[in-house]
Amino acid sequence: MGTLTEAGLLAVWEAGRGKDAVRRALVLAAAGAADPSSVADLSVGEREELVLALRERCFGSTFPCAVTCPSCRQELELELTVDDVRAGEPDGDRRLRVNGFDVEFRLITSRDLLTVEAGTSDAHRDARRALLGRVLTSATTHGERVSVDDLPNEVLDALANALSTQDPQADVRLELDCVDCGHEWASPFDVTIYLWAELDAYARRLLHDVHVLASAYGWSEDEVLAVGPARRRCYLELVAG
Ligand SMILES: [Zn+2]
Repeated sequence: MGTLTEAGLLAVWEAGRGKDAVRRALVLAAAGAADPSSVADLSVGEREELVLALRERCFGSTFPCAVTCPSCRQELELELTVDDVRAGEPDGDRRLRVNGFDVEFRLITSRDLLTVEAGTSDAHRDARRALLGRVLTSATTHGERVSVDDLPNEVLDALANALSTQDPQADVRLELDCVDCGHEWASPFDVTIYLWAELDAYARRLLHDVHVLASAYGWSEDEVLAVGPARRRCYLELVAG
C-alpha cells in the first residue's frame, strides 16, 4: 500500500467525520488495508496496526505528544517513535484453565464490538458478558459444556485479561515519567484518536487553501489539488499579495 493522495486523505476524512470511535477506526484501517472488506473481522489489535501503518506512511514515524503529569500538573512534551507505540502482533494460545473451567476463545473484532453495542440497548444482558460470550468458542467444566452465563466472574476476568494480553496492539499503554517530579504512570495511546486529529487539521487546512484558490482563480477542487503543494503555496502567496 502506498501513501494516500491529498484527494484520498480528504475522502477518508469525509468518511470518518461524525462517526463513533469504532466506526472511525474502521474507516482509517480500511484506507490502509489491502482488503478493506476484511477489516471489521480482524482483531482490534490487527485493525489498530493497519491504522498505525497508515499513519506512518502519511505523516511519518515520530509522534509528538503533549501530556500533563497527573501528580504535579506539569505539561510535558514527548516525541514518541513508532516503536514506542507498536505493541506487537497477537500472541499466545487461545485457551485458559481457571478454577476447573476450560475455556477456548478467539480475539475480539470490531464486528463483535458493533454487534454487542447494537444488541445491548434492548436487552438487559450485561455488555461485557455479551462480548465475552461472542468470543468464547468452548467452555467446559468436569467434561460438561457450559455457556457464558454459567461462567463465574473470576473466569470472565481471566478471559478478559487474556484477550487484552494476547492482542497487545488493541490496548497500548505508555510507561511515562515526569522530568519535574519523578512521578511514573501508564497512559493509554490510541492511534485512531491521534491520526484523526492530524487528519482533521490537515483536511481543514487543505480545504481552506482550495477555497482561497478556487475563489481567486475560478478553479474547481480537482483543479486546485492537481496543482501540487509547492506551486499551490506560491499561488497562495500571490493571492495574499
Ligand atoms: Zn510531575
